[in-house]
Amino acid sequence: MAASDLINLSGLIDDAKCFALVRQHRWPEGACCPVCGSSAVIRDGHDDTQPCRQRYRCKACAGRFDDLTGTVLAGHHQPLRVWVLCLYFMGLNLSNWRGSVCLLLREKRLGV
Ligand SMILES: [Zn+2]
Repeated sequence: MAASDLINLSGLIDDAKCFALVRQHRWPEGACCPVCGSSAVIRDGHDDTQPCRQRYRCKACAGRFDDLTGTVLAGHHQPLRVWVLCLYFMGLNLSNWRGSVCLLLREKRLGV
């Protein structure tokens, strides 16, 4: 596959939807603090370079975090949709990629 095909495809994937899916999976009951586990968190703007990446502030411990803090996706500079594309090209379709996101989040928690 040519590189230009990849670029075209990445343009078809909506960043907002990618982050919404991550949030849905990570926090089905609403965001909670990765440091203290409190659900008393408030939205605190968005990432400077990724406008769809929600930032939060914890009212319990004053910690700051965002949608990807503490996940394997946090340390990478690629847009989230690049990960979605990777999963796609690994043979996963959109109906089961949420399971793959779940796997990524779980691996990080286990320290793998
Ligand atoms: Zn906290």
